[in-house]
Amino acid sequence: MRIDLHTHTSVSDGKLSPADLIGRASAKGIQLLSITDHDTVDAYRQIDLKAAAPRLIPGIEFSTYWNKTGIHIVGLNIDLNSSALHEGIRLQHEARGIRARAIAHKLEKHGIENALDAARAIAGNDNIGRPHFARHLVDLGVAKNIEDAFKKFLGAGKAGDIRKYWAPLPQIIDWIRTAGGVAVLAHPLKYKLSRSRLIALIDDFAEAGGQGMEVISGKQPAPAIRQLARICNQKELLASCGSDFHQPDQSWAELGEFQPLPKDCKPVWDAFR
Ligand code: AMP
Ligand code: MN
Ligand code: MN
Ligand code: MN
Repeated sequence: MRIDLHTHTSVSDGKLSPADLIGRASAKGIQLLSITDHDTVDAYRQIDLKAAAPRLIPGIEFSTYWNKTGIHIVGLNIDLNSSALHEGIRLQHEARGIRARAIAHKLEKHGIENALDAARAIAGNDNIGRPHFARHLVDLGVAKNIEDAFKKFLGAGKAGDIRKYWAPLPQIIDWIRTAGGVAVLAHPLKYKLSRSRLIALIDDFAEAGGQGMEVISGKQPAPAIRQLARICNQKELLASCGSDFHQPDQSWAELGEFQPLPKDCKPVWDAFR
């Protein structure tokens, strides 16, 4: 079965509308799909959950932090009507707005004016993320491409790297679990932690009630998959897989295109059937 449990739409920083994403997933032969937009479930307002061709598992990707590192937690199989979930989303939305203003303010010190309005226009809504600022910086010509914009202005340690407004990790896990969902640590290798720090993060995550981790996140080398599978099994966590798809022209994160989960892992989706 082809499964993708981590994808984005234009409701957050993806480029396809929810309908187009579902169409693409269906064309790629995906049977089980989760749309996991950043800190919002608005995509699900545009979708008939029962009619969709790939079966949809309601999901979200929450932003939070651990020590000094920004991290992401995917919530899968959440009840979209949960009041705890919506209270969480409201707070994160507020945090995202405050953070966007803070990022724009910092960019001003680099001589970049009115970045907030520009990022909002690019986002097309007020769910503003760093990729929207990145596109503006590329348009201005102060960054060569999106990657360069993160390297110079938005990534770890740079002006746009502001984590303090997000809800803390235990709070995020609590919202997901109260909404009946499964909390999954997203793309564990993206945080560039040493092996021992990654284990410490996963221990804290599990201690706070986290239940799963992505063993597969897009196209990863075989040793990375083996390392994550080993940690996942040692910590007795459920294993998830997803592309982290944002747009069609990124071959390393195409819908459903990644290695299968190692056989000895316990798939998170077993509980969704
Ligand atoms: P935000 O939700 O505003 O914190 O933005 C985080 C998003 O920025 C991630 O989900 C990615 O889509 C994108 N992103 C993070 N780092 C990079 C990078 N180095 N290059 C391109 N996109 C990135
Ligand atoms: Mn993103
Ligand atoms: Mn993420
Ligand atoms: Mn993501």
